[in-house]
Amino acid sequence: MEIAEKKGKLFIISGPSGTGKGTICKALLERNDIDISVSMTTRTPREGEIHGVSYYFATREEFEQTIAEGGFLEYADVFGNYYGTPKAMVVEKLQQGRDVILEIDVQGAIDAKKVYPESILIFILPPSLKELRARIEGRGTETEEVINLRLSKALEEMSYIDKYDYFVVNDIIDDAIIRTEAIMHAEHGRVVPEDVKYILDKYKEEEKCYTHQ
Ligand code: 5GP
Repeated sequence: MEIAEKKGKLFIISGPSGTGKGTICKALLERNDIDISVSMTTRTPREGEIHGVSYYFATREEFEQTIAEGGFLEYADVFGNYYGTPKAMVVEKLQQGRDVILEIDVQGAIDAKKVYPESILIFILPPSLKELRARIEGRGTETEEVINLRLSKALEEMSYIDKYDYFVVNDIIDDAIIRTEAIMHAEHGRVVPEDVKYILDKYKEEEKCYTHQ
């Protein structure tokens, strides 16, 4: 944390399936001292996914219990499964002055911004729908029907871009990572009214030391 800041920043990253937002988030975590929130979901684990690392895998009953307890910062139904951001960890990290990334869908991002207006929403776009289709096909895990569904869902998701603060086109992955980092750095230099007193108090404190020398 720098002198001029107290709370950490909440960066919310969304984008259609296949845009590479997961790769971008992974690189951000490797290259920066930040945290990512592990979501809870009711979908079944994919091969290689680890409980508590990829997601907290839960039953619908467990998920609904957490909703009832007010345990989510946001949650949404995505492709027929529940996904939600556990609130406690995110709040704790931000209070400690640490930045947190959420990689969540559009509906969840919009809801999170309502609950936490200081959050910064970044939308990752594919260079074209043709390229997006090629990337999803390249995974080799989806049927033609599912690919078509994902593409029409992609267009629907993109229509919410006006609710976002920034967009990054992921054409060349290294450039997209650098652009996303640039946004994060710039946000640390934003003058936020609630931080102004804190910033000035720091310098006033320091001035006292000098005048007593
Ligand atoms: P997948 O099943 O491929 O891991 O994720 C499907 C979608 O759910 C992705 O768009 C992902 O960003 C979104 N997602 C993952 N975790 C959360 C969450 O906690 N909340 C919301 N609203 N969406 C999530």
